[in-house]
This record gives sequence, C-alpha cells and structure tokens, in this order.
Amino acid sequence: MGHKIFLLLMIATSGAAHATDTLRLDYFHSGNATEEMFSLDELVIEPLPWPGNPKQPIDELKRGKYLFEVTGESGELLYSRGFSSIYGEWETTGEAREINRTFHESVRFPKPEVPFELTIKKRNAANGFDPVWSIKLDPDDYVNHRESLLHADRVIPIEVNGDPTEKVDLLLIGDGYTEAEMGKFEATARELTKKFFETSPFDRRRTDFNVWALAPPSRQSGISRPSTGTYRDSPVGARYDAFRSERYVLTYDNKAFRRIASSAPYDAVEILVNNETYGGGGIYGLYSTAAANSAWAAYLFIHEFGHHFAGLADEYYTSSVAYEFSGEITEPHEPNVTALLDPDNLKWNHRVSADTALPTQWPKEKYEKHAVAYQEKRKKLRAENRPESEMNELFQQTQDFSEKLFASHPNHRVIGAFEGANYQAKGYYRSAMNCIMFTRTRDFCDVCGAAIEQVIDSLVQ
Ligand SMILES: [Zn+2]
Repeated sequence: MGHKIFLLLMIATSGAAHATDTLRLDYFHSGNATEEMFSLDELVIEPLPWPGNPKQPIDELKRGKYLFEVTGESGELLYSRGFSSIYGEWETTGEAREINRTFHESVRFPKPEVPFELTIKKRNAANGFDPVWSIKLDPDDYVNHRESLLHADRVIPIEVNGDPTEKVDLLLIGDGYTEAEMGKFEATARELTKKFFETSPFDRRRTDFNVWALAPPSRQSGISRPSTGTYRDSPVGARYDAFRSERYVLTYDNKAFRRIASSAPYDAVEILVNNETYGGGGIYGLYSTAAANSAWAAYLFIHEFGHHFAGLADEYYTSSVAYEFSGEITEPHEPNVTALLDPDNLKWNHRVSADTALPTQWPKEKYEKHAVAYQEKRKKLRAENRPESEMNELFQQTQDFSEKLFASHPNHRVIGAFEGANYQAKGYYRSAMNCIMFTRTRDFCDVCGAAIEQVIDSLVQ
C-alpha cells in the first residue's frame, strides 16, 4: 500500500464512527422523443463512505431536468437531488424521433437503514416536477453488489483540505493515458487544478475543495474520434462526436465510469481526455469533460464544470448544436438564462440597478456579423482536417475581437438582460455582456458565480 492510498483511506474514513455507506442505483433509461421508461440494473454499495454533506440532504436548488427523491417507510423525504442526463439531451435530438435508445444512468445517495422508495421526477413546462418512475428497494438485500476499491492504489491526492463530508470533492479522471503517460496525466491534473483555483469564485473558495486524480491505464493513447476515423477502447469510454457533434466529448459507458470513479471520494467529476483536439462536455450532476492537451484546456475545464457542477446553461448561441428548438419560448430552469417573459420578476432582479433598461443594449449586430464569418472558417478548418494550431489561432482572434468590442461599450460591466443565449439569437437573455458561459473569456459573470457558490455552500460544513 503506497503512501497515496494510505492518505486517501485515512481521510476517507476519518470520523468513521459516523460514516454512512454510499448507495448507488444503476438503471437503464430508454425511450424516444415522445415516451420514456426506466428499468432496474442493480443497487450498488460503493466502497467509500458517503462524501456528501450529511447536514443538507434535501436539495433546495432543484436544478436540472430531473429530480430524484428517496423516501422512507412512512413517506418522509430522506434525500433529494436535481440532475440532468445524456438521455435528457438525446430526447431533444432528431434521432429520438426516428429510433429508440437506451442509456445507463446512476443516482447516488447515503444508504438508508431500512427499505425505501426512490422516485425520479421530470421537469414540466411550468418548471415543476412530475414523477416518471418509482421503485421500492431494500438497502440490505444480499443481491446488492458490493463494489471493491478497484483503482485505489492509483488515486492521487492533488489537494486535500479536510474530510470529504465537509468539502466539495472534485475528482479528475484521466481517459486515454497509457501506463507510460501517467506522469503526464498527473502534471496536467495539477496544472488544470492551479488554473481552476485562479478563477473566481473558486479562488476564494479554495479551502472548501478536495481535489483527487485517477487515471486507469489505457492500452492506447488518446480517445475515440469517429469523425476522423480514430477508434480506441479507453477505460472510461469517453469519445468525441457525441450526438454527431465533433467537439462534444461524452462517455455513454456509465457502468465503467462509475466503477472507476467509486475508488475515490467525489461530489463532482471532470474527465480529462488525453487529446489535443478542442472538445468537451458537461452535464449537471453527471460529469464534465475536457480535452486536456488543447491550448484551450483551462477554458474547457472551467466552462464545462459550470454545466456539470451548477447546472448553468450555455449563454452562447452562434455555434451549431444537435438539439432541436421546439419553437416555443418558455422560461428556462437554468439560473443564468431567462426568457424575460416577466421583466419585473427577473430571476437576478436583485442584482439589476433601477436605471438599467431591460432588455439591455449590447453590440449584438457587430458580434453576430463576426460570428457568422468565424463559424464558416471553423467548419472549413474541421472539414479540411487542418492542424489544431490553426483552430487555436482562429479561437484567439475571435476572442480578441469580442473582448475589444465589449470593452468599448458602456454596458460592458452592467448586469441586465442581454438578448442571445441558450442557443437562440432571439427570445433568450443572459445577465451580462460577457461570461465564460458565453465566450472563451476568463471569468464567470456575477450571476453564474453566485449560482456556483450556492452549490459549494450546499456541500460544505
Ligand atoms: Zn454567466
């Protein structure tokens, strides 16, 4: 047993008298654009104690497309958490109107002592939740799988500030790193952690985090990128081209992902893929991904973490995405975008000064004109499979253009309602002219920063 695992176990089991087991419900989520169904895979007792905050078992934020609730024998609510899923995104793509698909999913919670009921609810148009699945489960059934600490000897404590129940445990999982590349993985994990803690609000909340890193060795270097004919069987199963979007990196192999992750304490996971090509992804309550060798790795890491950790929406709207717009503008549930249907009750109203006009002016036409030309160049670079350095240069030029354009506008630092967000040029609004959820800038807007801090507050004691 190396010193790393010894340290890990010491921390993970400190306060063991109060330690609660971590239970994970693995299930299959199937359907198409109009119907969905859930079916049991198995209940798993994870090898490490529950890393969440025992003092805040009920989710007050209720972000995400789904919400799960654990209720006791007399119906009392024991635990709840909002989340989103790959299925929840997939059902809005064109493919979901053509075929059925199945995705493996999990929800994790502290193990109840007696039989319980688990209910999954789905968000409705009025932003409430309707139940879509309920199942009664026995936490002590002998068929429940007891998972082993499969990769414990590979867990690297990057930064440890306290007991997992009192901190946000961020786990960095490497995918596509060979045994010979483990040093490269650790150096990258440390470098991205450094940049993460240089970004607000993480800079002032640093001691509220533990950061762990783990990369099960891959036989080959890098991950799959089907659109360029690259195929790999990497341990986590992360790949580019999710939903046929070349820059969208996800793994659909949830079982493999969970078996790897359960060797370390985690509230949030960032999957670092051993690739240079720009790409990433982030799903609330699941994981985020980032191309660790990209010149834009720190931006990808932090932007995608915003989706995964705080349920933030994309504020950009000029890049192509796989999701189909329903045509109906309704108030989005995410904390950082609004349809502005009721300006008097804007969700970030308390941050808007009385003399700020809603909607708020910004150089939208100039920005869009530039964005159209930029997107054409971007598509061309990918179609011609040009070197990544040319893409990086294009990103830098377009970022320089936006920063300069915004800096010269009087509303540059104003909080208001700026039209263009949530993949739509019209009908959706963001709170600030610029934000890391909008362009490849350095910082989160104030509204996004506050939404992130609410999640940190829910996990720390
Ligand atoms: Zn923002």
